[in-house]
Amino acid sequence: MKNQLPFPVDPRKIRGDFPILSRRISGHPLVYLDNAATTHKPTAVLDRIRDFYLRQNSNIHRGIHALGDEATGCYEAARKRVQQFINAASDREVIFTAGATDAINRVAEMTGSAWVQRGDRVLVTRMEHHSNLLPWQDLCRRRQAELRVIPLDDRGELDLEEMDRLLDSRTRLLAVTQVSNVTGTVNPVREIVRRAHRRRIPVLVDGAQAVGHLPVDVQELDCDFYVFSGHKMYAPMGIGVLYGKEQWLWDLPPGRTGGGIVERVTLREATFAGLPQKLEPGTPNVGGATALAAAVDYLQNLGMPAVAEHDHRLLTEARARLKAFGGVKIYGRPVRCCAALSFNLDGVHHQDAGIILDRLGIAVRSGFHCAQPLMDHYRVEGTLRISFGVYNRLADLDRLEEGLYKVRRMLGENR
Ligand code: PMP
Repeated sequence: MKNQLPFPVDPRKIRGDFPILSRRISGHPLVYLDNAATTHKPTAVLDRIRDFYLRQNSNIHRGIHALGDEATGCYEAARKRVQQFINAASDREVIFTAGATDAINRVAEMTGSAWVQRGDRVLVTRMEHHSNLLPWQDLCRRRQAELRVIPLDDRGELDLEEMDRLLDSRTRLLAVTQVSNVTGTVNPVREIVRRAHRRRIPVLVDGAQAVGHLPVDVQELDCDFYVFSGHKMYAPMGIGVLYGKEQWLWDLPPGRTGGGIVERVTLREATFAGLPQKLEPGTPNVGGATALAAAVDYLQNLGMPAVAEHDHRLLTEARARLKAFGGVKIYGRPVRCCAALSFNLDGVHHQDAGIILDRLGIAVRSGFHCAQPLMDHYRVEGTLRISFGVYNRLADLDRLEEGLYKVRRMLGENR
């Protein structure tokens, strides 16, 4: 099955923006299909971070000199850019973090003692990345609370009826991923939030795999917290975002403290500054934030609906080709999917396949993808995972197919 219509994002036009794509690996042109782990960075993003350190570098919010003012301006402009990108109601709701993991841990730190008492419950799902599971395990251990888990149905979708049963009067928070980093399943987050809010339960949405692939509108989702990492959306590593509804961010204790977040400090106590400063102790990643804003510009120039359609077309084509290939087990049959697709070849260990593909210059991921409870659900130790970025094209799928034939010839069952 070949796609007839031209792709909404033309990789031929933009591959030049990503110099790394011209690398050769083991003598082969690189085919990069590991975008769920991290995306490559366009020169516009690299130039922005370089420019920051070449021209503005200075600490922010405390300077009385020109460079300090300029750096503060860059940082706060980046916050506004992110606010607009995810449609937050105010830039006070955008807190810069080191990434999605850091942001989830921040929410666990902030809400732990304030919201969760002995015997209370926190609800997660079976498909969470470890980053959206371990902080809640830890919180429940510390607060003597119970971690409850929404199971999956046969298709690998969340069982919403079971979720309804689990959302009870002792549930203090629900944490759910918008998109699975393994199966690419897009969860019906708006509906999940609606059901949780009916019982006055706040919801944290892990947007790590969503934000570089789908248009995201946090007001429309109505979630209480939304987290993501810059490096999965063409920005550098080490910068990410915690979005929270202003009321929560205002009311909750900061969890983490330090310089730059106070109005007045004595040796015994401190009064905190307003938002967003209250939640950003220490020197933030100013260069990273400005580069994240450049990545937002890059994506918005392409247009998020076009980016989403491009991803969807490649995933649909990949799924069809893998099915036609035969002897392939694909994990999950999502109603709606984006970002990632996981599979195994019959009789072939995922790691062996990954190593052979790598020797052919094809970068895929093999392993449990930081989602071992989901691996347990499928009763596998690991899978091969492919995931696309805006620069991927059908020719990459041709190379993958050739690579998989070689893998099968070398290791697989005879067909
Ligand atoms: N959640 C999901 C769904 C992810 O895919 C990832 C990254 N693989 C994370 C959270 C953690 O992101 P980071 O490592 O950038 O903090």
